[in-house]
Amino acid sequence: MEQSLIEQYKDVYVFAQQVDNEISPIAFELLGKAKDLANDLNEKVVAVLIGHNVKDLAAQLGAYGADKVIVVDDKELEVYRTEPYTHALASVINEFKPEIMLVGATAIGRDLGPRVSARVQTGLTADCTSLEIGNFPLNPMPGREQKPNQLLMTRPAFGGNTIATIACPDNRPQMATVRPGVMQKIEPIADANPEVVEYNPGFTPDNKYVEILDIVKNVSDVVDIQDAKILVSGGRGVGTPENFKMLEELAEVVGGTVSCSRAVVDAGWKPQDLQVGQTGKTVRPQVYFAIGISGAIQHVAGMEESDLIIAINKDEDAPIFDVADYGIVGDLNKIVPLLTEEIKKALA
Ligand code: FAD
Repeated sequence: MEQSLIEQYKDVYVFAQQVDNEISPIAFELLGKAKDLANDLNEKVVAVLIGHNVKDLAAQLGAYGADKVIVVDDKELEVYRTEPYTHALASVINEFKPEIMLVGATAIGRDLGPRVSARVQTGLTADCTSLEIGNFPLNPMPGREQKPNQLLMTRPAFGGNTIATIACPDNRPQMATVRPGVMQKIEPIADANPEVVEYNPGFTPDNKYVEILDIVKNVSDVVDIQDAKILVSGGRGVGTPENFKMLEELAEVVGGTVSCSRAVVDAGWKPQDLQVGQTGKTVRPQVYFAIGISGAIQHVAGMEESDLIIAINKDEDAPIFDVADYGIVGDLNKIVPLLTEEIKKALA
C-alpha cells in the first residue's frame, strides 16, 4: 500500500460483538485496550456495532470507552452469518478507513476476522496476548526502514514455546484477534455520550448464502469459568474422574467453580469448556487453586494473571510453584480433604 494511502487510515476500531442484542464481554475488554492504543496514537476509539435493532446498545459502548459508534443495522444481520457480517465489516473498513481493527477471538470473531482481512487485503494476527504501539522493526536493521507508531501484536508461537511480535507496517488496517479474558475493561464512564453514525452498505441476495432454519441453544447450568471469582482447578495428578469429587467439595465450601488442565480434558474426565490454558480459556479469578497440575507453559498462559495462586503438588520442583503465591508440597488426596475441613471449620 502506498504511504500516502496508509496515512488516510485513522483511529482504533473494535468489532463490538453482540449476540441476541446483548453485547459480549469481549467487546468491553477490547475497548479498554483500544483506549490505551488510541491514547498513544492521539486518535479516537470507534466501536462497530453490527446487528438488527441494536442502536440502543451504543450508549453501553460509549460507557466502556468508545468515542464513536458506527451502527450497521439490517434485518439480514439479525443472527450472525458469515457472509452478511463479512460484507458489513469489510464495507465499514473500506468506507471509514481504520488504522487498527480489533476483533475478539470468539467463535464469531475467529470466523469473521480472517475473512474480513482477506477481503480488505490486509494481514491479521490471531490470538494476540499483548498489543502495543511502537517502532517496527523493534530494533534498527540495515537496509530496512524502521517505522514508528506501528501496532506490535504479540502472541505465543510454535506451540507456546516462543513469543512472537508481529506487525503489519505496509497495509491497513492492522488487524488482530484477541482472546476473551486477556484485556481489561475500564471502569464505566458515567456521562459518556458517544457520537453515533448509522451506515448501511446495502445487502443483496448474493450476500445470504446460508439460511438459518432453526437455532437450538445449548442449555448449561455450569458457571462459565471466566466469570468465576474462585477456581479450583485439577490436573492429571487428581488421578481419576471420581477423585474430582474432592475438588467439587472444596469448591463448594469456598464458593468456587471447578476447572481443569488439558490433560484432564484429553482423558475425557471433564468437558473442554472447563479447560484453562492456551487452547482453553484465559481466566483471572481472585483465587486459583492448581491441584495436581504440573504448570506447563500452555496451562500457565491461561491463569498466570490470577490475583492469588495456590498450588498443591507432590513434586516440589513442579513448574507451577514458579507462578504460585502459596505452594503446598504433598499428596493431594490427603491435603485437599484436610483443607476443605479446615476452611469449613473456619467459616462455621
Ligand atoms: P501433568 O503434566 O501430567 O502433571 C500432573 C501433575 O500432578 C504433576 O506435576 C505431578 O507431580 C502431580 N501429581 C500427581 N499425583 C499427585 C498427587 N497424588 N498429589 C499431588 N500432586 C500430584 N495444557 C493445558 O492445561 N491447557 C491448554 O490450553 C493447553 N494447550 C496446549 C496447546 C499445545 C499446542 C500443546 C502442545 C499443549 C497444550 N497443553 C495445554 C498441554 C500441556 O503442555 C500439558 O501437557 C498439560 O497442561 C499437562 O496437564 P497436567 O498438568 O494436568 O498434567
